[in-house]
Order: sequence, then structure tokens, then C-alpha cells
Amino acid sequence: MRPSIMEEVEGLRGVNSVKIKEAHESGKKVVGMYCVFSPSEIALAADAIPVTLCGTTQAPIEDAEKELPRNLCPLIKSSYGFAITDKCPYFFFSDALLAETTCDGKKKMYELMGKIKPMHIMNLPQTANDKDSLDLWKKEMIKFKNFLEEQFEVEITDEKLRDAIKLMNKERDAMKRLHKLNAHKPAPLSGMDMMLAQWLKGFNVNKESGIDLIERLIAEIEERMEKGIYAFDETAPRILLTGCPIGSGSEKVLKALEEAGASVVALENCTGYKGLDVMVDEEKDPITALAEKYLSTPCSCMTNNNGRLDLIERLAKEYDVDGVVDLTWQACHTYNIESFTVKKFVQEELKLPFIQIETDYSDSDTGQVKVRVEAFLETIEKPATAK
Ligand code: SF4
Ligand code: SF4
Repeated sequence: MRPSIMEEVEGLRGVNSVKIKEAHESGKKVVGMYCVFSPSEIALAADAIPVTLCGTTQAPIEDAEKELPRNLCPLIKSSYGFAITDKCPYFFFSDALLAETTCDGKKKMYELMGKIKPMHIMNLPQTANDKDSLDLWKKEMIKFKNFLEEQFEVEITDEKLRDAIKLMNKERDAMKRLHKLNAHKPAPLSGMDMMLAQWLKGFNVNKESGIDLIERLIAEIEERMEKGIYAFDETAPRILLTGCPIGSGSEKVLKALEEAGASVVALENCTGYKGLDVMVDEEKDPITALAEKYLSTPCSCMTNNNGRLDLIERLAKEYDVDGVVDLTWQACHTYNIESFTVKKFVQEELKLPFIQIETDYSDSDTGQVKVRVEAFLETIEKPATAK
């Protein structure tokens, strides 16, 4: 049995789609965003509502393929499909869009999407830990701030930025504490529920009430842990899921793993821990602090992307995982190529079983994914009943 508050969490998407309409009608501005590199704090400081627009379902892909190539990442096609069909209330009520130059597919898709609504594109430097990159990224933060000030006729002060930084850090802290509960053996929350809770934060119209809900979920899980109630027993293989982002509608690999008896305890991807790991420094000049935080995102679009290996290692140890699964969306070149590096690192340095699964959002290979996942779990030495 799952925590009772999960029902409330699950209802968030519907509740927030009504709230976003009400907010829009009351004159509140909405900024649609597509990436973990997007500084939500700047939108909040403009007194706007930042929402995540990444497409995670198959439904709009057929429409998207009328304009985009079929051989393109499903996340890009789904996002664009929602935009051209007006099937997503969050896109519909967005007053402005924030895009970023991450992967080539997204970048070129944005050229088309930018014709539908006002769009600002942040030019993301592709190397982290480099002063020139940081200087450029700081300038990009300022350009986005200027864009919103002009677009919404507001002034974004340092004080407003500092308040927004505190609010987003508070949300990150709550989501991080929720994620860390699954470091416990056995895990108290299924990976499916963890994914839902983490993914749905992107739709919160009111950040404070979203944080309050997560605090209540944490409290309920802690109570259940005291009573010895967990999502899995101690024999379930503990899996770290890395790779491309997932969400409701694109969770087939996560679902297949848990249906086959695994406990997915750590989500290293953008849906889970990747964006939570680093907080924004509340003491520094806000633009510098934001630039530093977002530039540190270990996405495969960056070269090199050693930060991802570091994060996988830390999570693998902290969550005591038994295997690593790397999910790659079809036609995602950056994650696909990086998978070789991740495989070598996981197998040779961490001495853990590894599998890469390349798939899309459709059901066409669900049976094949199931067979591969089951075969992979067979290779994992079963943990002793009580460690
Ligand atoms: S994987 Fe990279 S491009 Fe995709 S949402 Fe995450 S940070 Fe952005
Ligand atoms: S999954 Fe890969 S191809 Fe798709 S949007 Fe993200 S980085 Fe780009």
C-alpha cells in the first residue's frame, strides 16, 4: 500500500491545470520552461509562474511528425506536439517561453516553436568549470532577466531575486530530503511514486503549497518507516536509473523494472536528483550564484560531463545500489554516446552491473524492454535478506 498522500500528489496535475487558468485570468504571467538549465528564480522574481513544459507522452507525437522528422528524440517531438495542438493547458496559458541551446534537436525545434509564442533563448556554453563559460552564462542570465522585464513590464530587483532563490532552495531541499528517504534499506517509496512526486513539482502554480505537500508526504513516509512499512522488501535489487528525463507517460523502463521486482531507489536523471544536487548560494550576488548553480548541471550536452560520473558514484554509494540502468531516448545522440563512458565507469570503477536501454515513448517494444529488464535483474546477485 502506498502512502495516502500520494493520491493528493497524483492529483496535482489536474488541480494545477485549473489553478493556472485562474492565475492567467487574474493577470498573472506564466513562463513555460523546458530544461533543468532554466533559472526558474528569474521568472519568480518577475512575479510570474514558472512551469515545466517538457512533453512526456506519446499522444501528440503523430501531429509533431507532420512537421518534424520522425527520427528525432520523443521528448522533443512530444513537447512540440503539445505546442502545436494546444492540448497542454500549461503551454496554452504560457505568456512567454524560455528555451536554451542544449542539444541540436531541441535547438532547431525551438526555431519553429518560437513562431507560436514569445520565446527567449539562452545561449548555453557547452563547457562547465571554465571562467569564460561562467562569464557568458552570467550574461545570459542578465539577458533573460531583461527579456522578462521588458515583456512583462516589471522590475526584477536583487531583493526579489534573493527571495526567489530562497524559495527555490526550499523546494530543492524538500525534494532532496524526499529522495534521500529511499537511501534506507528497504526503500519506503516506490521509484514510480518518487518519479511522480519529483516530476509534478514542475507544475506547481503555488510553490509554497507544493512544498507543504511534499513535507506532509515526508512526514507520512517517516511514520510508516517507524511502523516498518516499506515499498519493497530487503531482497529487491536496488537500482539507480540514469540517462534521459522521464515523466508520467514515459515511465515504461522504470515501470518494467519495478514490475519485475526491482526497487528503483535513485533517479539520477533530470526528473530526479540532477537538478536538486547543487543549491544556489544565498550569500553571493544573485546573478553569479544562479549562473554557477545552473552551469554545474551534469547534462550530456556538456563536454566533458564528468560531473555526471561523480553524481552516479555518490548516489550509487549513498543508496547502496545493486545495478545501474541507463535510459536513452531514441535519437538522443549525447546520452547515447555518453552511455559508453558511463558503462565503463559503472562496470570498471564501481564494479556494478550495467545495462543501457534505448527506446521511445511508444508501446511497440514494451515486451522487449520487459525481457531485457528481467534478464538484467537475473544477473544481479540477490542481496541477503538482512544487511
Ligand atoms: S537532460 Fe539536459 S537538456 Fe534535457 S532537461 Fe536535463 S539538463 Fe535539459
Ligand atoms: S533526451 Fe536527449 S535529444 Fe532529447 S531533448 Fe534531452 S538531450 Fe535532447
